[in-house]
Amino acid sequence: MRNLQIIQNIKGYLLDFWIAHVDQSLPDTEYLHVFQMIAKQEFKMKKVEYLKLEHGLLCPLPNSNLQALPFNSIAPYVEETHPLSDTTVKLINKVLKIDSDTIILKDEKDNIFALIIVENTPEWQCFASTPYVKELETLLSTLILSLISKEKNFYEAKLNRELYEMTAIFHSTMNINTILEAMIQSIKRTFPQFKSKLILSNDQDRLQIEDVEVFDYLLERPSTIEAYVSGEITSEEAKDINSYLLNVPIIGKQGIYGVLQIFASPNYHFSSKEKKFLSHLAQTSGNALENAKLYHQSHRLVADLQLINETSQRLNMKLNKEEIITFLTMQLKKSFLPSEICFVFKSHDGYQYMGDTAAFFCEENASVYKEFIATHFEKSMEPLFIAEFSQVVAEKTKYNSMIVVPIIINEKVQGYCAIFHVDSYYFSFDSYKLMQSLIRHSSLAISNILLREQLQEMIDRDHLTTLYARKYLERYIEHSMEVDDFGAFILCDIDDFKKINDTYGHQTGDVTLLMIAKHLQSLVENQGICARWGGEEMAIYLPNKGLDETMALVGKIINSIPKVTSPPVTISSGIALWRSDARFTYQRVFKNADVALYEAKNTGKNKYCIFQGPNINEKADA
Ligand code: GH3
Ligand code: MG
Ligand code: MG
Repeated sequence: MRNLQIIQNIKGYLLDFWIAHVDQSLPDTEYLHVFQMIAKQEFKMKKVEYLKLEHGLLCPLPNSNLQALPFNSIAPYVEETHPLSDTTVKLINKVLKIDSDTIILKDEKDNIFALIIVENTPEWQCFASTPYVKELETLLSTLILSLISKEKNFYEAKLNRELYEMTAIFHSTMNINTILEAMIQSIKRTFPQFKSKLILSNDQDRLQIEDVEVFDYLLERPSTIEAYVSGEITSEEAKDINSYLLNVPIIGKQGIYGVLQIFASPNYHFSSKEKKFLSHLAQTSGNALENAKLYHQSHRLVADLQLINETSQRLNMKLNKEEIITFLTMQLKKSFLPSEICFVFKSHDGYQYMGDTAAFFCEENASVYKEFIATHFEKSMEPLFIAEFSQVVAEKTKYNSMIVVPIIINEKVQGYCAIFHVDSYYFSFDSYKLMQSLIRHSSLAISNILLREQLQEMIDRDHLTTLYARKYLERYIEHSMEVDDFGAFILCDIDDFKKINDTYGHQTGDVTLLMIAKHLQSLVENQGICARWGGEEMAIYLPNKGLDETMALVGKIINSIPKVTSPPVTISSGIALWRSDARFTYQRVFKNADVALYEAKNTGKNKYCIFQGPNINEKADA
């Protein structure tokens, strides 16, 4: 009679429970609360455990002290009879550390889906020996199954609603950031307990959204790469990060754009419905991304064509090198927003750096970039596209993104144009392509200018010594006499050079000439220019230099020449000055220097003389 009362009480509790929760979502911890309440009221139990059977594991509810354990370890002892036999109780007790009986919950196909471990109180023992215990098992099984099924429907409805809302958002926008943001938010709403991340290929424009990263083959986990390459969902027990990692590829019609990573807790099992939801979401967003990308691409393509067209037109306008560089710099700035732009050209004595921020490239800490690029172009004519330079050179670098496009003339790399940005992964692949076409379109104009410069250089320079040619010096002085107030012209002639040739041979003579030329250049530096005047005579011109400074320099030259030549030689010099207040022609200045040199030769050599003739005030045509 008492047991009938108990089973009726229990039915009453369960009915109340069902009515209270029929139209709301219900976490399974709630079942435990109702059993605990029933167990306490009817059987004086202090402890009840609910173990769900999931994929062969008996999983306790989150607030339990028990560990999950394989069903196999306990299955042989689970008996249909109540109470359990002593041996079974002992064995279960050993595994679960509970002095217990077990309520077995089964589904429609008679498969066990959960166990309720109950304390073996005298009240329970009395109840368990009646057939009511079977009724209780059936009752609980039916109730929990319907709760689970209701919960599943609830959850699936939520996933479907989420998918529907996402699809609506994706169809309403062409903004890539909005699409990505919506996707991340949706995952956060669906799996609030897990961390998630989007990893996208670098063919988008720069993204500045939290939880969105750029796909990097070198750094990603193998399971992520596999999802990206195969287009299939992959998963991994990532012990190192204490997660179960799910990788969902973001797929459009034309390609795979990235991977959605979800970091679940280690034993989490994604249901097929959840996986379906995720792959649907990833596919819908993949299509949306693709559409948005194509839309932007078509706009950009038009803009790119306009840019290239405008550039070609401007370059056909016979600009000089500086004008071309200024124009291209402006175009590059406008299109790519780089931190630095630099044009580099090979010249006879190394590299020439041009462009807006060429100064940065001449600084010492730019050598890491210069050397890397120079080494690359020694072996290859391919452009460079680097997203994380500090990794490439394995040191910390200020600029991490770079695009470097060679300027190729006659199938040789004659220079390059480089853009840099501080941030990693700053430039998109589209930018790389556009920059290539921009530079390729400009190459012809640049190459014409470079060839013209090279030709001019050949005319302007003496082949043996690489000093300026006499004609160039004459033009230079002529110009200086128009714009400057005064200047000094110095003729240098090697003493007894014939003897050097006669004694050591012509080749040694040539080497001596070269040594003297280099030495003169190093002493004069940018105070003026040095030229080969003819034979073994060299000339120096110093604009805006007066007598004292000139004497000091020439004195130094004459003293040092024997020390830097082997066999040692000496030189003699003639100095002639001009001032704008007296009427000079450059021919007159040359003649005066010649007179002074003649005097130096005639008064002992290895010395200099200054022209001080009466004709300093002579008329230009005198
Ligand atoms: P001085 O002290 O009077 O100048 O005597 P010098 O022997 O230097 O003068 P001279 O004018 O008699 O001879 C100049 C020599 O310089 C003759 C020529 O062979 C030599 N010379 C001129 N150009 C070159 C050159 O390019 N290479 C070599 N090796 N010798 C040259
Ligand atoms: Mg001579
Ligand atoms: Mg001589």
